[in-house]
Amino acid sequence: MSGKRVYFFGDGKADGDAGMKNLLGGKGANLAEMTNLGIPVPPGFTVTTEQCIEFQDTQVISDGLKDDARKAMAKIEGIMGAKFADADNPLLFSVRSGARVSMPGMMDTVLNLGLNDDTVQGLIAKSGNERFAYDSYRRLVQMYGDVVMGVEGERFEHAIDKLKETAGVIQDTELASEDLQALIATFKSIVKQDTGEDFPSDPWEQVWGGIGAVFKSWNVQRAIDYRRINGIPSSWGTAVNVQTMVYGNMGENSATGVAFTRDPSTGEKHFYGEFLINAQGEDVVAGTRTPQQLNIYGREGLPDGNEAKGLPTLEEVMPAAYKSLQEIRERLENHYRDMQDIEFTIQDGRLWMLQTRGGKRTGVAAIRIAAEMHAEGLVDSELALLLVEPDHLDQMLHDQIDPDAQLDVLGTGLPASPGAAQGEVVFSAEDAVIKAEAGHKVILVRRETSPEDIAGMNVAEGILTSRGGMTSHAAVVARGMGKPCVAGCGDLFVDSEKGEATIGGKTFKAGDAMTINGTSGAVIDGTPPLVPPALDDPNLETIMGWADKTRRLKVRTNADSPHDARQAREFGAQGIGLCRTEHMFFGEDRIMKMREMILAENEEARRAALTRILPMQQEDFDGIFRAMDGLPVTIRLLDPPLHEFLPQEDKDIAALAVEMGVEREMLDRKIDSLHELNPMLGHRGCRLSLTYPEICEMQVAAIIGAACAVKKDDVDVRPEIMIPLTGAKRELSDLRKLSIAVAEKTMDEAGIKVDYLVGTMIEIPRAALLADQMAEVADFFSFGTNDLTQMAFGYSRDDAGTFLPEYVQKGILANDPFQQLDQEGVGQLVEMACVKGRQTNPDLHLGICGEHGGDPSSVAFCHKVGLDYVSCSPFRVPIARLAAAQVVVREKLEAGK
Ligand code: PEP
Ligand code: MG
Repeated sequence: MSGKRVYFFGDGKADGDAGMKNLLGGKGANLAEMTNLGIPVPPGFTVTTEQCIEFQDTQVISDGLKDDARKAMAKIEGIMGAKFADADNPLLFSVRSGARVSMPGMMDTVLNLGLNDDTVQGLIAKSGNERFAYDSYRRLVQMYGDVVMGVEGERFEHAIDKLKETAGVIQDTELASEDLQALIATFKSIVKQDTGEDFPSDPWEQVWGGIGAVFKSWNVQRAIDYRRINGIPSSWGTAVNVQTMVYGNMGENSATGVAFTRDPSTGEKHFYGEFLINAQGEDVVAGTRTPQQLNIYGREGLPDGNEAKGLPTLEEVMPAAYKSLQEIRERLENHYRDMQDIEFTIQDGRLWMLQTRGGKRTGVAAIRIAAEMHAEGLVDSELALLLVEPDHLDQMLHDQIDPDAQLDVLGTGLPASPGAAQGEVVFSAEDAVIKAEAGHKVILVRRETSPEDIAGMNVAEGILTSRGGMTSHAAVVARGMGKPCVAGCGDLFVDSEKGEATIGGKTFKAGDAMTINGTSGAVIDGTPPLVPPALDDPNLETIMGWADKTRRLKVRTNADSPHDARQAREFGAQGIGLCRTEHMFFGEDRIMKMREMILAENEEARRAALTRILPMQQEDFDGIFRAMDGLPVTIRLLDPPLHEFLPQEDKDIAALAVEMGVEREMLDRKIDSLHELNPMLGHRGCRLSLTYPEICEMQVAAIIGAACAVKKDDVDVRPEIMIPLTGAKRELSDLRKLSIAVAEKTMDEAGIKVDYLVGTMIEIPRAALLADQMAEVADFFSFGTNDLTQMAFGYSRDDAGTFLPEYVQKGILANDPFQQLDQEGVGQLVEMACVKGRQTNPDLHLGICGEHGGDPSSVAFCHKVGLDYVSCSPFRVPIARLAAAQVVVREKLEAGK
């Protein structure tokens, strides 16, 4: 605990700075930084994240915090020349959440704290604007009632609708001061009715209630869901920013908006944003009024038919404020050396900054911004690498609609997040979850999304909304998730109650097939063919070039076919780290022979079946070796329990009996005898080759036979024979001996020599513990962290889905250890095996081939413990290349500190 509960900022000086995100949250740290830079920020103070964690135990605001907050308030009063809770010259505050990383819309905000029947008179006198003052007051009662006191938000909305109907007006802004006064009374009675309590007229009670509500919102379901999806620990807590109110709703010379210092979709160096005149805070992101574009660039980019196309820009209506905003944009980019996402308010012509943070962006935008900021001299090539997140590359590798496909485009919205998505239409987040769990692909179609929809958005293939702009909730969240999204599609009418959406003359019911193109904004009927992404973006090449120059770790791929091998090579793979040979046996033409081998009554019959398999196996390896000319190829001997290959269906068993010329009854008995209670820990891995050496013999003969054959064609072939699932030195030494004997014999017969290695997977904890012994008989180790995780935790890989999600949700585990390497536990086994292995065999080559090889944080770990390479699926290769470079840059930055 740092002890200090409250950090002040204002008037050019702040207690904190941008480096204090853990304690002050992202928003608080950046408000402090902007204040220190002399950028106009309304003064305020940040309550630390530590206070949030303390609050969770007690659920009360401590006296110590209250004292510190009062002192900070007094300082602000001095700066502003106004006084909190003063009836003549009242100072008003907002409270906003702000965690270490942004969690858009997940937690609570309350504005206009400090207003009551007395202070509202002071606000009227000060602003000379009675309507504005009452509008602010009704907003307070509404927000406070909803957020702090738990009144259903809809209740207030209905009251507004009713009042508008009576007053005969359409827009909120048309309600007169008297209407608003009546509304305040109605709102207060709703609060009383719903909660049995009065709306608190004491400004101090309002502030404590507001701070407490933000703290509580850290643990509401949607925030918990968001944390789970994004791997944010619940122990971080949120900070609370209590800040002097500035008003974008003081009339036609006031406005509020959000902007990106560069275009977040394309990365182009254009100021990009949206604003609303005479509006407050959340109005822009809420998507309830169509926001106007910041500048002409933005307006020209809008699709035809978009409402904002006909509306003036900030550049046109408030040129002076726009110019100040432009200047701040440049200062912020130069200072942070990154694209920023900013929030601003213009009060009576004067510009105030409410937030700056690194802006979420698409993959294409990320690489463009990184490359261009490098060209502009803002960052060097290493810092440029940190401007691209591994997930951005994932997004760039998304499917696209086949350019040759005939499309039935029904309408167009904003291209909010790139890539094509298709699936069955659903109209609610709940339905999305239910359908997705049942294995369906879904497109979530909504008027607009709200943070409640987060779980549904997470499982959807893509998201389509009829309202809201590029900074609407749907757009921001989808971009963050790397999911295709089309937002603000004006052609679309959604009636979720009826379960219908109409666009371009077609009515969609739940379950109908739709495709959206988040790159163009098109909404398409049916499911046109998709094609894999083109990776010919020159910026991508530049960035990957820098990554390759920077990283130490090599990146290989897990591939079992020449096609996958070629694909991975295009993505930059430097070899194959895992070729799972069992996948080769599932083809129609092969499975029968494999079954014959498995069910053979004796060695002779088994050898006969294997002899028939050998040429097919050799042909597989031949193709892979050619695809990987000049690069190492690690081939694993047969690993899964044999029963996985056996026929299940009655007709398949009957066919096999005929093929093998044996009695059906006998075959049934044999199949029965192969049944295992716990096959994952049963007769699999090296145990197969030790009990049936002829399997190992056939596979090694095929590997080395193919290697000899391709070498004759001048292919630079580098086979590595990998023995799976060893846990005792003898297992490995026996199979090594056998492999070498077969390899030598095969080479003699072919009359040619190839260099090859024999090594093992380290995937049983005992092998890691005895790595020094294993290394004496291994040329290499490859960590099979799937099995190593399974066996270290004692969680079945196949069944962990029944409890792991709940574990992660409850925080029992921070992450799913099958996705992200458990560095604390399993990582110790890996690290120990590296050290011990190299003690007895300094030339030991080390790699990882479990799923973790493509996970950025696990890649960083592999770098730190000194592995030579990671191996991952082809589509993750670019991600691993970037992650391997980023860890080097981060290490350098750390060392430089
Ligand atoms: C592993 O266990 O990590 C591994 C790569 O092998 P498999 O997933 O095939 O068991
Ligand atoms: Mg394994």
